[in-house]
Formats: sequence, structure tokens, C-alpha cells
Amino acid sequence: MSSETLARPTLIAPSSAAVDASGKARTYEVRTFGCQMNVHDSERLTGSLEAAGYVSADGEEADVVVINTCAVRENADNKLYGNLGYLASVKRRHEGMQIAVGGCLAQKDKNVILEKAPWVDVVFGTHNMGSLPSLLERARHNGEAQLEILDSLETFPSTLPTKRDSSYSGWVSISVGCNNTCTFCIVPALRGKEKDRRPGEVLAEIQALVDDGAIEVTLLGQNVNSYGVEFGDRFAFSKLLRAAGQIPGLERIRFTSPHPAAFTDDVIDAMAETPAVMPQLHMPLQSGSDAILKSMRRSYRSTKFLGILERVRAQMPHAAISTDIIVGFPGETEEDFQETLRVVEEARFATAFTFQYSIRPGTPAATMPDQIPKEVVQERYERLAELTNRISWEENQAVIGREVELLVANGEGRKDADTHRMSGRAPDSRLVHFDVPAGSEIPRPGDMVTVVVTGAAPFHLIADSTDGAPLRVRRTIAGEAWDRMQAESCGVPTPADASGAPRATGPVSLGFPSLRLQGGATTIPIYTVDDSER
Ligand code: SF4
Repeated sequence: MSSETLARPTLIAPSSAAVDASGKARTYEVRTFGCQMNVHDSERLTGSLEAAGYVSADGEEADVVVINTCAVRENADNKLYGNLGYLASVKRRHEGMQIAVGGCLAQKDKNVILEKAPWVDVVFGTHNMGSLPSLLERARHNGEAQLEILDSLETFPSTLPTKRDSSYSGWVSISVGCNNTCTFCIVPALRGKEKDRRPGEVLAEIQALVDDGAIEVTLLGQNVNSYGVEFGDRFAFSKLLRAAGQIPGLERIRFTSPHPAAFTDDVIDAMAETPAVMPQLHMPLQSGSDAILKSMRRSYRSTKFLGILERVRAQMPHAAISTDIIVGFPGETEEDFQETLRVVEEARFATAFTFQYSIRPGTPAATMPDQIPKEVVQERYERLAELTNRISWEENQAVIGREVELLVANGEGRKDADTHRMSGRAPDSRLVHFDVPAGSEIPRPGDMVTVVVTGAAPFHLIADSTDGAPLRVRRTIAGEAWDRMQAESCGVPTPADASGAPRATGPVSLGFPSLRLQGGATTIPIYTVDDSER
């Protein structure tokens, strides 16, 4: 694929199938299973559908249901076919309804989906998301199911129309695919080799987000540290961080995920020297045992891993470091597991996403000997969870008394209505629930508030006023964008920008790492901190 192809926006033509016989726009709903990549892909699916003329079902029964699947999790199949089974009965009574299945599982299972669920109208893969509207149209016109799976990327996904889910925070893909071959991972088989976007395109997309009112971006790639491999610049990622840090108005830059093998000191320097890059790092450990890391084909060892953390903390003492760990990989002995516990104890992760290994068909590890019995995996998992939860709690308690500026979030505090608190993310991405003393200005999602942390739980912090003084609120362009979006959703026209064009807005809310979508899309997270499966 030429860089020219990467840069050119993909135009989605209005589709005749987007309106019914009476001329009314058909409605859609996108259901997302999976990681941030999938959530961001769903923003592109909704953008493509809207460009074609479909409108969000907004919680009503949709005319078109799109399921964006995930193949990483063990019960992804069950979840998909459970959803499809239910949708079959809905489709029987909903005339003209269409069902489309896309994403990783579709890429992997291809025609199996149509064999198992012949009432599905469209199956598409990870490489041709922009084809969804035309496939829906063809299925309707021909009266038969359409299956289109490509082996390589047709269009770089970021060139597709995107319906952003948050006014204050956006995700920006810097690469797709992965050149590594971790033996437990299905991603290389489904997403293909790494494709990098040019830095200019990435920066232009960030600038466009900021122009629309976002003040936070999260750069996304399966392995952000190898960014630049395609155009031959091994320092491309640190340069990109520094360049993004120059964009006026962009207050917070995050990224996920780095790979310990490729993580170089120029990235640590760029993080420490670029004020907008937040002191937060997600560094997947996977195992503390060098033998298991070798068997996972992860080319770093525990000493190197801990060395990275040491150097990050030397330059950013308050950095919150999170990780992923797999328990019970084939061949893992009690001694290997003890190594994981040792590294976890030393690493002091703020958050650990822990997973029980289970077979993923199609991965090299699936056919390895010495698969670990489920009850052994479960018992180790519980011991690990106890340790990681204790450390998370201790690390959170260490933050009590610290003054932090929070980016006020929308929809992240599930109990806010009961506790009369609001919620926001600290620079290190910790979730903080804060109270709003009487007489305070009420901050909008996207505004900043400065609070002092007064309490800690393993997975969140509390900041309650101790003196009743009004909340310290800093109004931001993201708060303004929120106001515009609210006004628009109430039917008030959106003010024009300097060029006279209406400002782009999107529906609400998605502070990293929340996975909840609103509007025409819903998300079922693939994992949470207390999830037991991968
Ligand atoms: S680096 Fe990440 S995406 Fe790539 S193969 Fe390994 S686990 Fe999968």
C-alpha cells in the first residue's frame, strides 16, 4: 500500500439501502466486543454508516444491527452466537432488518458464521470495514447474504469517516497489525503485518481533533514502539510524541500499547520532557518467568522489564504503570509462577489486568504440550489477583494527600448519582470520584478540576472536600465542545467556526480507558481489572 493511499480520505457514497420504501432513513446499532482497537474501529463503522445515510437507532430496535467481534477472548464465539440467536427472533418480526458481523472473529471464521447463522446478511473482516454500507446494499438488492473478507488491508482504517464518541478525548491509530509472533496471540493472523501511518497524517488527525474541542488523545497501535519500522525510522515514536506535544491546546497525550522488547530510552526521554505526555505507561509483562517468556516468543526477559520500569520511574517518579499478565500458559510450573509473583511484587503496578490462559484455536500455543489443568490455573490466578489487588490498593493509598488535576469524565462514575460525586481522570489515568461542595461551579465533561485525594480503594480514588471551599474549576475548549454537543442534541443549531462551516461534533463520552459507547453503539468490554479470562 502506498503512503498516498494511506493519506487519501475514503469517501463513502450515500446508499440507496439507507432509506426504506417510504423514504425514511434506516436506523443502525453497532455492538462492540473487545479492546480499544475494536472500539475505535466501531467509531469508523458508525461514521461509514452515517456517511451512507443511516441514522443511529438511539436505543430503539435498529433496522441494521452490526456486531463488531473480537477473537481474543475464549467465549467470544459463545457471545457472538448467543447474540445472533436472539437477533434471529427479532429479525423474524422486524421486516427488512439486516444483521452484519465484522471484526476479528469474522476475519477468522469467515463462512462459518453464515453456516451457523444463515440469517446473517453481511460478514466482513478487519481489512474492509469501509465496505459495510455497500455490502448491506448488495445484500438487500440481491436478497442474499454477502461475505467479503480480504487478506490484507484495503484502506487504512483512519481514512474512513469516523463518528467520534467523545467530545474531549479521542483515539488516533498510528499503526495497525503486528510483526511479532507471540504464541498466545491471534492478532498477527487476523490483523496482518504492521502498517504505519505517516507522522504528518497522524499529527493532522490530532490537530483536527483539537480543532473540534478534544484536549486528550490516545495513540493506538498493537506495538507502538515499532512505529516507524515501515518507513525506516527507529526513533519515529519518540519524535511523534514530541511533535504531538507541540500542538497548542492538546493537554494530554497517552498511548497504548508499548512492547517491552522494543521500548527504548528515547521514548522515556520524550515522555519525561514533553509536558503533555501523561505519566502513565501500560507495559505488558505477560509472565515473570524467563522460560515462559521464551515459550511465549516474547523476546525480553524479566531483568530487562524491571530495568525499563526503573528508568521510567527515575525520570517520572509519579508514573502509574499498568500491565497484562497471563496465568497458566502451557508448561508453566509453580516455580515459573513464583517468578511472576516476584516480578509483580518488585514492579509495583498501579493496575494489573490478569488473565487465565485458555486455548485460542489458530495460535501456536494452542497445540503446545503441557496445557495446565483449569483448577491449577484458577488457583494461581486467585493468588496473583490477591497480590495485584493489594499492591494496587497500596499504590493508591500512597496518592492520598496529593493534589491532582482531573479531566472531568462523562459516564465513568457508575455510582455518581448515588454518592453525589462526579468523576475524572488524573494525569496518571487513575479514576478519581470527587464531591462538589455547595456553591461550586459545576464542571462540564472536558473541563479540568483541581482536587486533593482523600481516600483510596484498589481501583479508584476519592477526593472529598475537607474545608467546604468551592471546587477549583478550569473551563476548557473541551467543555465548550461539550456544550455545543448538548445544544445540538437539543436541536439548537451548532455555531459556525471561523470559516462559516458548522463545527463537527460527535456523541458523548469515552475517557481512556472507558469502553462504553453511547449513541448508536454499545460496547461489551473484553476485560476489566477483575476479569478472569482472556
Ligand atoms: S506484540 Fe501484542 S499484538 Fe503483537 S503478537 Fe504479541 S501480543 Fe499479539
